[in-house]
Amino acid sequence: MTNALHIKNLSKTYSNGHSAIRDIDLTVKQGDFYALLGPNGAGKSTLIGILCSLVTKSKGSVEIFGYEISSNFPKAKSYLGVVPQEFNFNIFETPLQIISNQAGYYGINRSSALEQAKKYLKMVELWEKRNECANDLSGGMKRRLMIARALVHEPKILILDEPTAGMDIEIRLSMWDFLKKINSTGTTIILTTHYLEEAENLCRSIGIIDNGRIIENTSMKDLLGRLNVQTYIFDLSSPITVVPQSLADITTLVDSTTIEVKIPSNQNLNNLYKTLSSESIMVESMRSKTNRLEQLFMSLIDRKSS
Ligand code: ADP
Ligand code: MG
Repeated sequence: MTNALHIKNLSKTYSNGHSAIRDIDLTVKQGDFYALLGPNGAGKSTLIGILCSLVTKSKGSVEIFGYEISSNFPKAKSYLGVVPQEFNFNIFETPLQIISNQAGYYGINRSSALEQAKKYLKMVELWEKRNECANDLSGGMKRRLMIARALVHEPKILILDEPTAGMDIEIRLSMWDFLKKINSTGTTIILTTHYLEEAENLCRSIGIIDNGRIIENTSMKDLLGRLNVQTYIFDLSSPITVVPQSLADITTLVDSTTIEVKIPSNQNLNNLYKTLSSESIMVESMRSKTNRLEQLFMSLIDRKSS
């Protein structure tokens, strides 16, 4: 399958010395719906800024459908539609002016530009508002206007930086439907979010970014499966050399007196203790293992509920 986005060894150090992106490798397939999930300050906007050349990379390469952004920017750019985190349209223009002028920047002639503007303003349900001052639109409408503007040249990849941040739940749900619809027509979508729930609802693939590094890059299904498993560490009273067959699927031997056992989060530990006893494995103490992934998710959940 074709790669929509292919990033290699990408780094960004800002002029104040802060490393916002640290050696990122990332590939997104054509047609995918990809979430880049991470807390504030993780580097999400910096990465998106690099993709649309608003931020200059320090190192590495970025290819959009095989075109390197530094050496082939016009071609790469033609494939991209970007919705930045902050509103950046002229608030004194009307939606129709904003969208049709944008089409003009991509070399679309005036009559086609007006047709495209109509198509996309209808799609985002803003056609009735086409002649109003953009400043008077609600927050959700302004965000949809930004999306229509990003789509007007029919990009193959739509990139959205926290498209639903600050939206109330009803508007967020309608935005989700709307993004699913765009993806179902074949447009590759990449979005950043700090809402777990959003990534879970929308995306087939997920990358987790923390402190400038991608710490996970996998399918949504795989990630959710792994998060529903709790890992426990048992210190044993007497050494063992092999894990008994009855525990082999869920247990790894760390050293002769330490084992790690994975149990689905919703399951109690009584059966495990029974099996350990029947195998004559004596437990001295036990603790739950928290890994970096779980810790990051906990911090994301905290943010969500605060
Ligand atoms: P996110 O979008 O995930 O919240 P950003 O990409 O905006 O994260 O920021 C990543 C890090 O880079 C943060 O620590 C931020 O303070 C820093 N940063 C962002 N822009 C600049 C800049 N222009 N100069 C220096 N540091 C910056
Ligand atoms: Mg950001």
